[in-house]
Amino acid sequence: MVEIGVIIIIIIIINITTTTTTIIIYFMFLGSNNLILLQQNGGRNVGLTDCREEMLSLYLPQASCHRDQVLEIIPNDEEQIKTLLQLEAEEHLELDFWKSPTIPKRTVHARVPFASIQAVKVFLESQGIAYSIMIEDVQVLLDQEREEMLFNQQRERGGNFNFEAYHTLEEIYQEMDNLVAENPDLMSKVNIGSSFENRPMNVLKFSTGGDKPAIWLDAGIHAREWVTQATALWTAKKIASDYGTDPAVTSLLNTLDIFLLPVTNPDGYVFSQTTNRPGASSNPCSDSYHGPKPNSEVEVKSIVDFIRSHGKVKAFITLHSYSQLLMFPYGYKCANPADFNELDEVAQKAAQSLKRLHGTSYEVGPICSVIYQASGGSIDWAYDLGIKYSFAFELRDTGFYGFLLPAKQILPTAEETWLGLKTIMEHVRDHPY
Ligand SMILES: [Zn+2]
Repeated sequence: MVEIGVIIIIIIIINITTTTTTIIIYFMFLGSNNLILLQQNGGRNVGLTDCREEMLSLYLPQASCHRDQVLEIIPNDEEQIKTLLQLEAEEHLELDFWKSPTIPKRTVHARVPFASIQAVKVFLESQGIAYSIMIEDVQVLLDQEREEMLFNQQRERGGNFNFEAYHTLEEIYQEMDNLVAENPDLMSKVNIGSSFENRPMNVLKFSTGGDKPAIWLDAGIHAREWVTQATALWTAKKIASDYGTDPAVTSLLNTLDIFLLPVTNPDGYVFSQTTNRPGASSNPCSDSYHGPKPNSEVEVKSIVDFIRSHGKVKAFITLHSYSQLLMFPYGYKCANPADFNELDEVAQKAAQSLKRLHGTSYEVGPICSVIYQASGGSIDWAYDLGIKYSFAFELRDTGFYGFLLPAKQILPTAEETWLGLKTIMEHVRDHPY
C-alpha cells in the first residue's frame, strides 16, 4: 500500500514538473516576448463567459470558474502597459479585465481562467511585470453569493424584502411596485421604454406635485455591478421613508423631482444571473469606467430621449462599481469643463460626507485624470447637453472583491453612498440654474 502511494506521488510530481517544464521550454524556444506561445498554453477553449453569469445558471451542472483567479498586476512603464494590452487582446486566453491597463503604476485587475493561469503567470514573470493574487478562487466567492441568494429567497417567503441581499430582476421590480404602492403620494412608476429583449425600463419618480426641475439617477448600466442596483433600490426606500421626517430630504423634494432608474440594463442583469448568451461579450465593463457609446444601445437611447423631452433635468448621476471614485466630466477629452471648480468642490464635499460614515475613501476628479482618457461616458453626454451637475460614482470596493462584493456590504455601501448623493442633491437644490 505504501509503495503504491509513493509511486502515485512520484507520478504526480513528474506530471507537474513536465507541465511547468513544457511551458518554460516554450518560452525559451520562442523568445520571452512572444505571445504566440501563450496560444499554445492558454489552450482550452471554454467559450466566452462571465464567471458569475455561468455560475448562476441553474442549468449548468459544473462550476466553471473553479480555480479561476483574479490577478492584480502593476505595470511599471508604458512598455509593460503595451504588453498587457497585447495580452488582453489574446482572445484564446479569455482574460477578463476588471480594470484595464491605463497608466504606469495604476493597478490592473484581470480574471484569469484556470486553464490560462500558469501560462499568464510565467509570461508576466518573464516580462518582469509585478503581480499578486487578488482573488484566489473566483468560484468560492460565486458559491457564497449564490448560497446567500438562495438562503435569502427562503427567508423572504415571509414577505419582507431584505435590502441586504442580491435579488433577481423580478424581485427588484416587485419591490419597486411595492414601494410605489406604499407611497402613492410621493412615488410613481414611469416606463421610459423597453430593453432590447423587451423588458420594461421602469423609473421611480419621486415628486410632491407639479413639474419641477429634476435630478436623474441611474444604476446598473453595467449588469455585473450588482451593488449598484442594490444601492439604488435601497436609496428609493430611503428617500421615501425620509420624506417628511428628514428636513433635508423634505426640502429637496419640495424643490426638485427625482427620477431613479435602478436597473438600466435589465437584459444584462437577467443574463448575469441565469445563462450565458453565446458570443456575447464577456467584458461589458472591462475598465473601471466605460460607458456605452452615445445612444448606441436601445436602453441608453431611452434615457437620452426621456431626459431630452423632460427638458428640466439639472443633475445627472450614474452609479457604477467598483473602484471608489467620484468623477465628473470630461472623459473623452482632458480639458477641464467650464464648471470645473464648482464640480470639484461639490464632489469633494460629497466624498467627505460619504467617508464620514464608515471611513470609505473616494478619489475625486474628472474622468480623464482619475482614470484616463475614455470616450463615451454618459456624464460627458449629459454635461454637454447642458446638465451642469453630472457625476459618476464607482462604488465599493477597490479590488478586494471587485465585482463580487459580498451582500453584507450592500447596506454600508448604500448608506454611505446616500450621504454623498444627498450632498450633491442639496447643492443642486441650493444652486438653481
Ligand atoms: Zn461600470
